[in-house]
Amino acid sequence: MSVIVEQLTKRFTTGGTPAVSDVSFHAPSGAITTLLGPSGAGKSTLLRLIAGLELPDSGSVRIEGIDCTHLPVQQRGIGVVFQSYALFKHMTVRQNIAFGLETRRLPRADVEARVDEMLRLIQLEDLGKRYPTQLSGGQRQRVAFARALAIRPKLLLLDEPFGALDSRVRVELREWLHSLHEQTGVTTLLVTHDQEEALEISQHVVVLSEGRVAQAGPPEDIYDRPATPFVASFVGGTSVLRGHVRSGRAEVGTLVVQAPNSAREGEAVHAFVRPHDIKLAKPPQGTSEPVTGRVERLKSVGGYVKVLLKLPTGETVTVEVPRSEFENLGVVEGDRVHADVRTATVFLGDFAI
Ligand code: ADP
Repeated sequence: MSVIVEQLTKRFTTGGTPAVSDVSFHAPSGAITTLLGPSGAGKSTLLRLIAGLELPDSGSVRIEGIDCTHLPVQQRGIGVVFQSYALFKHMTVRQNIAFGLETRRLPRADVEARVDEMLRLIQLEDLGKRYPTQLSGGQRQRVAFARALAIRPKLLLLDEPFGALDSRVRVELREWLHSLHEQTGVTTLLVTHDQEEALEISQHVVVLSEGRVAQAGPPEDIYDRPATPFVASFVGGTSVLRGHVRSGRAEVGTLVVQAPNSAREGEAVHAFVRPHDIKLAKPPQGTSEPVTGRVERLKSVGGYVKVLLKLPTGETVTVEVPRSEFENLGVVEGDRVHADVRTATVFLGDFAI
């Protein structure tokens, strides 16, 4: 039950920049695959092409081995959930869930049994008679999932399904979707711009940038081994520092990181440093030894403290220090500090980001 997309291209204006450009990827059977990228990267267009809501200029979509590129939406065997709850307001929860089944002219008893099953699956057994306006945002979105799943789709397509919800409900529903997927095992494609959501929920991630695939692979690969500067900067809240190779190491401002093996002396580098991969230390009082930088700003964010470190080059680096470590560190704004980079992703060459 996999999805194979090959060389898909879609332009909305003749001769214009394609919204989706020569995109190929494979969404494995039974897994959640995320299409991750910033706004305008082409994620929704790609999902709509797979759903059959848009037609491609070229390329193909295969679902379960069947070429669906030119099949109408209804014949693709898919369920779709959008960001805005596209529930029918004049219908109860039960009627909403039954909708797709009734258009397929199933016997009444089968429809009722399937709706009951779906209500149990989304844990809203007692709310079947309510109307969408009588539900919370999270509950409405669960009904939208039940409606999409009722028809036993081969493929579930989710376009920013939690985008309209507040952050607490978002996180709750993310976990809920994880267990829902464990129960149903349906092959799922999820569009999101939220890298945390993508890394947490999916087994496979396709990162998109300007209509193209920047990298595809398991979440750990995307996070630990970003293939391009774009992926390195988009995933993980990194700071980007410029510098040069000196004696086999990359010197970026007052920080030193490991250079790639192929680095040549004097070559330009960009280092992408994650906020939790930097260790700060306060120099002993009264010493005037050189330091890495100065603490420009401190901001406590829940369980950690965000430190904005200003380097002598004028560049700033964001560092995240767990609250317990921060108390031992004992720094205040304006302090001069040492900083050690535990690990960084380094790309050779001079380029714009
Ligand atoms: P994303 O989902 O990653 O935010 P979209 O797929 O919505 O990106 O959009 C990709 C590009 O295609 C954007 O430049 C957007 O303006 C353009 N686009 C999307 N839909 C249409 C449309 N119906 N008509 C014209 N341009 C569109």
